[in-house]
Amino acid sequence: MMKRIIEYLRSLMLLELLAGMGLTMRHFFRPRITINYPEEKTPKSPRFRGLHALRRYPNGEERCIACKLCEAVCPALAITIESTQREDGSRRTTKYDIDLFKCIYCGYCEESCPVDSIVLTDFLEYHMETREEGILTKEKLLAIGDRFEDEIAENRNKDAAYR
Ligand code: SF4
Ligand code: SF4
Repeated sequence: MMKRIIEYLRSLMLLELLAGMGLTMRHFFRPRITINYPEEKTPKSPRFRGLHALRRYPNGEERCIACKLCEAVCPALAITIESTQREDGSRRTTKYDIDLFKCIYCGYCEESCPVDSIVLTDFLEYHMETREEGILTKEKLLAIGDRFEDEIAENRNKDAAYR
């Protein structure tokens, strides 16, 4: 009974409200730990594993030599490659698909590639609305590589400096 009376008096004096206001005021003058995303962004590691890309050499030639190491190493079986031999004897992919719904972003494909072709960019702001959009085809992967080549090269230089 006494406990209920004390609780009643406390609520009458708005003690809980004052305690809440005190907590708010304590944090009001402290440095913010939140940011106004997407206008503000937190820093990302150069090793951040975001959307995949296929890179080209500076002369525009695609790097991938269709060795299929990335396909073999992928633990999620997310990569499908078909290849053919060109007239000059070099081998190139005719199909290079990554199923983003299977991918677990482990980065093994990037690690295994002998020519720095398949990479994971630090781009994370993407979405899909259909099943088909979750399949990154060779054309899409090369287009992503073209778009982010500067950032990819910069991150790889930073990463190399850490090692
Ligand atoms: S990041 Fe990992 S799971 Fe995704 S495609 Fe590459 S190897 Fe496969
Ligand atoms: S992306 Fe790299 S590892 Fe994969 S098939 Fe092409 S060259 Fe080989």
